[in-house]
Amino acid sequence: MHNKSLSELSTALQTGDISSVELTQHYLDRINQYNGDLNAFITVTEDRALEQAKAADKLLAEKKGGPLTGIPLAHKDIFCTKGVRTSCASRMLDKFIAPYDATVVEKTDSAGMVTLGKTNMDEFAMGSSNETSFYGPVKNPWDTGCVPGGSSGGSAAAMAARLAPVATGTDTGGSIRQPSSLCNLTGLKPTYGRISRYGMIAFASSLDQAGPMANSAEDAAWLMNIMSGFDPRDSTSVDRDVPDYTATLNDSLEGLTIGLPKEYFGEGLDPQVAEVVETAIKQYEAMGAKLKEITLPNTHLAVPTYYVVAPAECSSNLSRMDGVRFGHRAEDPKDLMDLYTRSRGEGFGEEVKRRIMIGTYALSAGYYDAYYLKAQQCRRLIRDDFLKAYEEVDVIMGPSAPTPAFRFGEKTDDPVAMYMEDIYTINVNLAGLPGMSIPAGFVNGLPVGLQIIGNYFDEARLLNVAHQYQQQTDWHTRIPDAFK
Ligand code: GLN
Repeated sequence: MHNKSLSELSTALQTGDISSVELTQHYLDRINQYNGDLNAFITVTEDRALEQAKAADKLLAEKKGGPLTGIPLAHKDIFCTKGVRTSCASRMLDKFIAPYDATVVEKTDSAGMVTLGKTNMDEFAMGSSNETSFYGPVKNPWDTGCVPGGSSGGSAAAMAARLAPVATGTDTGGSIRQPSSLCNLTGLKPTYGRISRYGMIAFASSLDQAGPMANSAEDAAWLMNIMSGFDPRDSTSVDRDVPDYTATLNDSLEGLTIGLPKEYFGEGLDPQVAEVVETAIKQYEAMGAKLKEITLPNTHLAVPTYYVVAPAECSSNLSRMDGVRFGHRAEDPKDLMDLYTRSRGEGFGEEVKRRIMIGTYALSAGYYDAYYLKAQQCRRLIRDDFLKAYEEVDVIMGPSAPTPAFRFGEKTDDPVAMYMEDIYTINVNLAGLPGMSIPAGFVNGLPVGLQIIGNYFDEARLLNVAHQYQQQTDWHTRIPDAFK
C-alpha cells in the first residue's frame, strides 16, 4: 500500500477498495514500527488522524470528497496545528500547543487529508543535517549512519521510509531541496508568495516558503494544488490564480532550453555527484531539450549574503520567544532581565544562539549599512543574474547539493562547511524563485538530486519538466531495502 502514488491511492479510496481508516492505520503502524529508530516524527497524532480518517470515509461514502480526501500526510513541525504541540524542534516551544492552524494545515484539512503527525527538523529550521533538533537527530533511511539533510529532515526521512505518502516542508535556503536530494525525494520550493506563510513559524520572513515533499512530480503537483493560493492573512502572499498543476505534466519538452550555470559545476562539487547530474542532463537532451551554458556570476555572494539576511531576520523574529509572550520560561527569576536571559539561554540551542548573535550584530546601529544594507544590494545582483539568464533559457539545472548524505558529526564542528551544503540552493531563495530537487541517481548507494530552477511562478513548468524525466527513469521509485 505504501508504494502507491497519490492518484492510485485516490482511486482506491474513491472506489472503496480501501478506506481512509485502513490506509491511515497502515501508515500509523509503519510509524510505530520504524520511528523509534529514525526519529522522523516529533509528535504522532494517532487519535486525531483516525478521527480525520473516519470523517474522510464519510465524505467518500457520500461521494463528496475531493481528489486527496482520505489521504494521510505529515506536516513539518513548523506549521501551527491547533490543539497539537508545535515545537519547531526547540526546547523553547516544547510545551507550545498552537491555538490556531497554519493556512497550509487548514488547506490540507479542508481537502479532507489526514494529518499523521509533526515531523522533526533542525531547530527553528536552522541547519542542513537535522542535527540541531532539541529532539535529537533524524536518521537517513538510506544509511542510518548518515544525516537526512535539513532542515526538513524529518519529513524527508518519513517519506524515504514510506511512513507517509506525502509531506510538507519549508525552504529558507534549501531546506526542502537539500533533504530531498539526500533522501531521494521530489521536493519543490515554490516562488516566494505562492503559498501562505500564515501560521508557519518564521525564521527569515523574506526567504521562507512552504512546499511539498513527495515521491514524484505528479504527487507534488497534487499537493501544490491544495497548498497554493492567496491568503489575506499573509501580506506577502501573492494574489494570482492557481493553475491545475497536474494539467500540464504531460506537455512535451521539445524545444525546451535548459541553462547550465558554469558556477554550479566547479570547485566544491563532488565529482561523482557531478557525473550523476550530467547524466541526467544528457537524458533531457535526448528528450528534445536544448542545452546552453550560462553564467550566474554573483553565485559566490549567495552564502555570505544569506548569512547576513537570514540571521538578521531571525534575530528579529525570535525576539518574541522571551518566556513571557512565547516560549520556555525559566524557574524563579530574580527580576525581569533574569527572566529574559535565562529563558532564552535555556530555551535556544547553540546554532540558534549563534544566528541571533550574528543577526543582532548585523542590525546594530553603525553596522546596518555595512552588513544588512550591503547584503540587500548583493541580493539584487543575484536576482538580476537569474533574470538575465531567463531571457535566454526556460529552466536552469544543476546539482541540488554538493555531496550525497554525510555522516553524523562530520560537519557539526565546522559551521561554515555546514553552510556550504546550501551553496546551490540559497541564491534561489534570495531571488525568490521556484526550485525543485528530483532523484537522479546514486553514489555509493546514496541518492543524488538534480536541481531544476524556474522563473517566477513557473512551478507548472518545473513539475512538467520533472514529470517527463520521471516517465523515462525510475530513480524516484527506489526505496531503501529495509523499508520496502
Ligand atoms: N541550511 C540553511 C540554514 O541553515 C537553510 C535552512 C532552511 O532552508 N530552513 O539556514
